[in-house]
Amino acid sequence: MSILTKEVYRELYKKLDGVFPVPYDCGTLCGKACCGVSDYDRPVRDDEMGLYLYPGEEELQKEAPDWLYWSEETVEETDITETEEFAALFPPSFLGRSLSFVKCRAPLHCHREHRPLQCRLFPTQAHLLHAGKRRERLILILNDMDLPYHCPLIEEEVKLNEEWLRTVYEVWETLLEDPLVHDMVALDSLEREEEVGKPTAIWPRPTFRQA
Ligand code: SF4
Ligand code: SF4
Repeated sequence: MSILTKEVYRELYKKLDGVFPVPYDCGTLCGKACCGVSDYDRPVRDDEMGLYLYPGEEELQKEAPDWLYWSEETVEETDITETEEFAALFPPSFLGRSLSFVKCRAPLHCHREHRPLQCRLFPTQAHLLHAGKRRERLILILNDMDLPYHCPLIEEEVKLNEEWLRTVYEVWETLLEDPLVHDMVALDSLEREEEVGKPTAIWPRPTFRQA
């Protein structure tokens, strides 16, 4: 059981309800590409798109589960193993854990009050500088995952609202209190730095040195 209870998630959802990354509906730029409803230069089918819930988030989502398609996946040995070709998908602490994978049944009619955290935090990602060390520090970066669509906010490096970024940062501070979330972000951060070096912080605004 996660230390992030459904009441914690309810608070995090509430914090993010009143702030927005941009002062307009960015779905009009791309036809809601990240929700899987657009033809916007997208090589995968809608039914292949979905997202993982964070540990414990499923308890809150289960209060109104019917607008999502649900599946459960158990993390196996191969998922935590790094090969010459592929990085590990999950850190060792995830082995044997069951994760909820969800897809929206009707993405054109988003139930905004129930949006999972991944939707609320996009298009940013958490990165840990000096992951696992005493000097570890959280920064937010623009999502750099291989996405099956193009997000204009990322590609055009649109300046995101400061209040929203500050709130997203606070949400991550809470999420990282769960060792599982911390392990996942640390794994991704170390892999990112190995592959492409230190990323550029969009929050806190890069006025401090990241060395
Ligand atoms: S976050 Fe990006 S991909 Fe998603 S709706 Fe906004 S502009 Fe489109
Ligand atoms: S919950 Fe809303 S924002 Fe998230 S993928 Fe579904 S339709 Fe899109």
